[in-house]
Amino acid sequence: MTVDLGFAEKCESWLLESRFFPSKVGGKPAWLNLKDIPGEKDLQCEYCKEPCVFLCQIYAPYEDSETAFHRTIYVFVCKKPKCCKSNGNGNLKVFRSQLPRANQFYPSEPPVEQPDWRTDISVDRWVKTCRVCGIFAPNHCSKCKSVNYCCRTHQIQDWKSGHKVSCGVSQGAVGNSKLLFPEYEIVIEAENAKGDDDDTDNFKKEEEEIEKYEKMIEEGKAGTFQNEDVQNELLSMANQKEDETFSEFRSASDKYPDQVLRYNRGGQILYISAENKVNEVLKCSECNGERQFEFQIMPQLLNFLNFENPLECIDWGILAIFTCQKSCETKSGYSLEYIWKQDIVEDNSSDAS
Ligand SMILES: [Zn+2]
Ligand SMILES: [Zn+2]
Ligand SMILES: [Zn+2]
Ligand SMILES: [Zn+2]
Repeated sequence: MTVDLGFAEKCESWLLESRFFPSKVGGKPAWLNLKDIPGEKDLQCEYCKEPCVFLCQIYAPYEDSETAFHRTIYVFVCKKPKCCKSNGNGNLKVFRSQLPRANQFYPSEPPVEQPDWRTDISVDRWVKTCRVCGIFAPNHCSKCKSVNYCCRTHQIQDWKSGHKVSCGVSQGAVGNSKLLFPEYEIVIEAENAKGDDDDTDNFKKEEEEIEKYEKMIEEGKAGTFQNEDVQNELLSMANQKEDETFSEFRSASDKYPDQVLRYNRGGQILYISAENKVNEVLKCSECNGERQFEFQIMPQLLNFLNFENPLECIDWGILAIFTCQKSCETKSGYSLEYIWKQDIVEDNSSDAS
């Protein structure tokens, strides 16, 4: 079984629009179904009740399914540090959208990778989207009526950050608002592309690797984990040589240190800790069928998110995404799927909140 790895790379922004079926991090979501997009209520953080922000999307069609010829999974997260609870998933949302080859939005032939190709294929032709976050926007500015918002919070935010001046004067630059994460393409490559299978070697090199890792941290070269707390936790974990789960995680990470995502549909999760593994995955909300593991987001992705204060920001160990095994037809355009956040918890006493 092969695992595909995702790497975040800078790319021209036009290539990350819906018409090219992108996999990407940050910016506004590039919606697949351009009409029935989720809104404020669908994306509400369970803790603060504000809409979660787009984190990433992965284009992952089911080759053997007519109704999932195009298929994209979307992940959203609430950016507030106080909503980021240890091993809790209330600040995260996942949606699945899919379309048959013949559909009302896209031609049945593959897109032509040119900036001016079919720019008419755009969500703005179908529905109004929030100027701040890009989700469904039922409200507009009552003064100029030319900009739309998903909720009052985003309207106020936009007013303060510039619309107050530009309202009625000009549209203002539709640049990325501060709320959004920086945008990258997710480039997918097979993990075993280099054909090395050194599991036994890794086991033998355990001692050396830990030494190397500790030295890197001493010299401040680790760099993989931005959050100092996480880094310290990792260091203390590295000292516990008996922790097999973590050492497997680390050796898979070390092989390709920049991997931000591991795609392994129907395969195994690469856990970061033996504690707080996924125990119950609810059945598909559409067809009541089983869900299966599809991919996981690695902590390395946090390094690409430009947090103003890396010591006080959201984080995670891994985010594991589960989707309907059959990838059944979605009734509403976007089906809610399941996500599990696994963190490294040093001791159980801090777990009370
Ligand atoms: Zn929240
Ligand atoms: Zn919004
Ligand atoms: Zn206005
Ligand atoms: Zn289903």
